[in-house]
This record gives sequence, structure tokens and C-alpha cells, in this order.
Amino acid sequence: MLKIIQEADRNTGVPICNQQTCPAMSAGAMTYTWLDAKRESVRVPAPQYISYVQKWIAGKITDPSIFPTDTFISAPPALSASDPHNWLGKASGFPPQFANDIRNIYRQMLRCYAHIYHAHWLEFWHLGAYKELNTCFIHFVNVGRLFGLLGDKELEPMAPLLDIWLEKGWMAPRPTSSGGMSTKSANPPQQQQQQSMAN
Ligand SMILES: [Zn+2]
Repeated sequence: MLKIIQEADRNTGVPICNQQTCPAMSAGAMTYTWLDAKRESVRVPAPQYISYVQKWIAGKITDPSIFPTDTFISAPPALSASDPHNWLGKASGFPPQFANDIRNIYRQMLRCYAHIYHAHWLEFWHLGAYKELNTCFIHFVNVGRLFGLLGDKELEPMAPLLDIWLEKGWMAPRPTSSGGMSTKSANPPQQQQQQSMAN
């Protein structure tokens, strides 16, 4: 989906999402800021922010200490859900911080979706790509909610659309629990109008 807004248009020579159309990473009234190397919030144009997200996620998922790549030669041992030393992915070799990492990855992906919907929906409509966008996003939200990776606060910019889909029965109702993931490591509430990257 990101390629659609990132590839240069044949006629104009510039991508749909560029520094002029999107000088900030926004989703409606929400503006997201990035943490620079000094961990200071910086406002960057949306295409730059999205590029940072892609590189940051690629760095995470190709790091075998976070996403182990060893092939399993036998089934992982069954772990008790009530074991306090258990964590999401432990049985499959994922490290303790996996839940936090995957939650942060999900949060950043949500911001990219939110920007697409708020800033580029019309382009997706005219290109006839909106159905694919909706299918991907509905699946993303359903999985995110099921495993407690997306909270209501993160989903706030998309709430009106999610409500419509919920009414139509296209979206699973919000789970009552966090889907088995500990919320102990959840990040503290972020600012109302400006959200910074958590990692
Ligand atoms: Zn944009």
C-alpha cells in the first residue's frame, strides 16, 4: 500500500505523498513526531516519517535477537499461561521484550495507515485500490485488537471509519480482554495532539 503513495507519478515526476502535499506526518488533527538520535521529538514531512518507519521496522524484523530465525527441529515446550515467567512468544524462542517491540511496530504501522486514509483516500479511490486498502487495514486492526497490540488511543484517528465497519459487520467487535498479552510493559500515555515514537 505504501508503494502507491511513494512511487513517482509518470506525469508529475513526484510521488503522491511528498513534502509539499504532506509537510507533516498527520492523520486528521493528529500530528505524529519522530524521535531523533538525541531522543528529541522532531516534526518531519510524512514521506520522510514513513521512510523512517520502514527502515526502523526492517531493522527490527531482521534482527535475530528480536525475531529469531533458527529453524525449529521439534515442537516448543508447552508453557503455562499462569506462569509469571511466561511471555508472548517465549515458547517459540522470542525474547521477553518481543511483546513491546511488536506493539511498537504495530503502532507505527497504524500511523502509516491513518496517514493514508486521512491524506490520500481520494487517490486510492481514483486508482481503484481502496478495496485492497480496506481489506488490509481491517485485517490489521482485527489482529491488532485480538492480541492487544492496538489500543483505543492509537486507533482514535480511525474511530469514525471503524465504527461504520463495525455497524456493517465487516469488523470484529473489540475484544473485552487484551488477548492474553501482558499490558505491564505498555508505554505511558502520550501527548494528545502530538505523539512521539516510542522506541
Ligand atoms: Zn502523505
